[in-house]
Amino acid sequence: MSILKVQDVTKVYEGKVTNRALNQLSFEVDKGEFLAIMGPSGSGKSTLLNLITTIDRPTSGEIIFNDIKPQNLNRTELAYFRRRELGFVFQDFNLLPMLTVEENIVLPLTLDQKPVKVMEERLSVLAERLDLTTILHKRPNEISGGQAQRVAIARALIHEPAIILADEPTGNLDSNNSREVLELLSKINKEKQATIIMVTHDPIAASFCDRVLFIKDGEFFNEIHRDDRRQTF
Ligand code: ADP
Ligand code: ADP
Repeated sequence: MSILKVQDVTKVYEGKVTNRALNQLSFEVDKGEFLAIMGPSGSGKSTLLNLITTIDRPTSGEIIFNDIKPQNLNRTELAYFRRRELGFVFQDFNLLPMLTVEENIVLPLTLDQKPVKVMEERLSVLAERLDLTTILHKRPNEISGGQAQRVAIARALIHEPAIILADEPTGNLDSNNSREVLELLSKINKEKQATIIMVTHDPIAASFCDRVLFIKDGEFFNEIHRDDRRQTF
């Protein structure tokens, strides 16, 4: 069953020169799928993520989550939709330096004014699962890059989003920490049936996914499924 449908999406940036960043792109993502999108710089990956995360709108075409069309939501509904349905993991972690690890993780729930009890329960489950219990009271500058990315993943998971969007999550990590983060994402995907869409340059990262879509000049030119992955990487 698909959780996300991208239908015939085109994005044109108007400026001195018109730039067609995405050209009639269509694909679906199944619930519980771990999908990678790979492509060279300038191929349209950020544009696509910005459309999926509703930061920007397509020039034409539609993006549909379950039955929701974000294009039809007003600002308040959109903010609520994003907080509820989407979890974000970034290349540079995006943790707030003044807050402790614990405060960073529960921030999405704080913003939603969830009861403290709910926050504490979810925090303790995630901290255990992501091996963060010993660093909860540290600040981001006192932890390693791998730990910081695990904190960011905990923050993305705490409101139990329908889809996790990861933008180059291993981009700033060495190979050991990358592997750890990828194994973690993979585990969350399998055990929690979490849907993950990951944009990456890293073939090793892509090798953890069920499916890889290759994009170039705003169009998909190849697609590889887990079963035939070995032939390619
Ligand atoms: P990637 O993330 O794969 O590097 P982008 O989505 O950033 O690719 O860019 C795709 C194309 O769209 C590039 O040609 C880029 O220069 C252009 N582009 C991206 N964002 C903008 C923007 N805000 N205004 C104008 N052109 C843009
Ligand atoms: P990434 O490292 O994810 O590929 P990019 O360097 O392609 O990121 O883009 C970073 C940001 O700059 C994106 O939000 C993208 O939309 C914007 N951007 C990229 N190209 C242009 C451009 N030609 N004009 C304006 N903004 C751009």
